[in-house]
Amino acid sequence: MKRNTVLKLSGVERHYGQGDTQLSILKKADLTLNSGEIVALVAPSGTGKSTLLHLAGLLEHPDSGEVSINGHDCNGLSDDKRTAIRRSEIGFVYQFHHLLPEFSALENIMMPQMIAGLPRNEAKQRASQLLDYMRIGHRGAHRPGELSGGEQQRVAIARAVANAPSLLLADEPTGNLDPETASYVFEALEALVRQSGLAALIATHNHELARRMDRRVTIVDGKVVDF
Ligand code: ADP
Ligand code: MG
Repeated sequence: MKRNTVLKLSGVERHYGQGDTQLSILKKADLTLNSGEIVALVAPSGTGKSTLLHLAGLLEHPDSGEVSINGHDCNGLSDDKRTAIRRSEIGFVYQFHHLLPEFSALENIMMPQMIAGLPRNEAKQRASQLLDYMRIGHRGAHRPGELSGGEQQRVAIARAVANAPSLLLADEPTGNLDPETASYVFEALEALVRQSGLAALIATHNHELARRMDRRVTIVDGKVVDF
């Protein structure tokens, strides 16, 4: 499979607060992620993992530096363009599933596709395939509240990749699960990444899972470093 640079952060800075109370979370941070690679982001709480993922996911703007998705610098783009890129190129998974409680698992996965303009029957077919792929095809009609934590996260992952993004960002996606379920959910996520060739950046405190990824990075003094 041909490897492309999917995500590139160059000299990214993020500060909170002002004047004397300024907190520098990211200081000239660099990170490159290629298609087909799964990278673990392992760092203590409060070091800036979520901040980094939000910047990479175009949910926030850096104070300076460049955030490029598939070779395009996204900083100068309008909010509409950033939203369009986020919808088509980026999938996000949170620690708590953030699924819509009033809709079934299948409908939750159909939703982003229909927002992207896919006809209902096509969205339904892809949602079904993704649920099968995550080995929860039999749970499609159930609402999130009727699913286990591991099942909810597998639906959230399926929803994140529903529009075939090139980048998957996950913020402690198994942080709420017992080790065995976490391992199983990660296995499903990994299979999906391998099969689709997308690039994944996964924040985790689970060192066992981190070891199973292609590469591990951490945040030291505001910079992203391999470890
Ligand atoms: P992590 O995900 O690694 O736990 P975060 O990226 O959430 O870390 O936060 C990094 C630091 O930035 C923390 O000290 C947090 O309190 C601070 N922080 C995050 N968001 C804001 C904000 N909107 N305003 C002020 N400080 C913030
Ligand atoms: Mg966080």
